[in-house]
Parts: sequence; C-alpha cells; structure tokens
Amino acid sequence: MTTTRNIALVAHDHKKAELLEWARFNRDSLAPHRLYATGTTGSMLADALDLDVHRFLSGPVGGDQQIGAAIAEGRIDTLIFFWDPLEPQPHDPDVKALLRLGALWNITIASNVATADHVISSPLFAAGYERRMPDQAPRDWQALTAPE
Ligand code: PGA
Repeated sequence: MTTTRNIALVAHDHKKAELLEWARFNRDSLAPHRLYATGTTGSMLADALDLDVHRFLSGPVGGDQQIGAAIAEGRIDTLIFFWDPLEPQPHDPDVKALLRLGALWNITIASNVATADHVISSPLFAAGYERRMPDQAPRDWQALTAPE
C-alpha cells in the first residue's frame, strides 16, 4: 500500500534542468502523491510530467515562504529542494527560512540528486513514515491550521 505524501519541489534556476531530469526519471514514483512547487518550477514540472502540481508563487516573490508556511501547518512532509550552492539568490533569507522550518518540523529534505534518489527509493517513502514532531508543535493542531 502506498501512503500519499505531500511533496514540495523547488529548484533554483541553474538547478531546474537537474530537478526536471530527476522528476522525469521518477515520474511513476511521484505520480501517486500530491505535488507542490514554487511557480516556475511547478509549471515546468507539470509540463514535463503531465501531472497536477499545486503551484505557489515564484520563489523570489514569496513562494519559498508559502511552502515554509505549509510545512509549519503540517501540510508538507517532503521537500525536494535543489538550491544553488554557487549563486547568491535575491531571496536568500527566504531560502534559509525554508530550510530552517523543514529542519524544525522534521520533514524529509533532499538538497541534491544523490539524496533525492535515496529518499524516493526508501521503503519508508512508499510505506509511510510517522515523523516525530518537535516539542513546540501545538497540541490542538487542527484548531490552528488554516482550512484548505
Ligand atoms: P521558481 O522559484 O520555481 O519560481 O523559480 C524557485 C526559487 O527560486 O525558490
């Protein structure tokens, strides 16, 4: 049985080709899950995979922050984020914030192809994984999260 995961995918401009190639190769593994992405990455993925991809704003104008908020609300459990280690980004503070929230909320994060390959081929990916929540997680989660 496959557990439906909520997967956010983001790639900086010089990493988009790499993410698209990875996603194409893994299309069948991604297809059963709910996919989210920043604006440009999402459009490219939707075209390349012919799958529904929920698109947030483009990263530099708030998309990274939107994904961070969705993580804090418990709506994303996996982040495939190919950030560019060779190029400063205008939204570097947002990138840092996104990675920080991903670490805080103990979601699965892959920053490069090697890690993404390990994540998607892990038995836990398909079978489900109950992640441990940080102590700061609200007790009455449902009362705090925004409706869809
Ligand atoms: P984009 O954003 O998918 O809209 O290009 C990615 C980013 O720079 O965070």
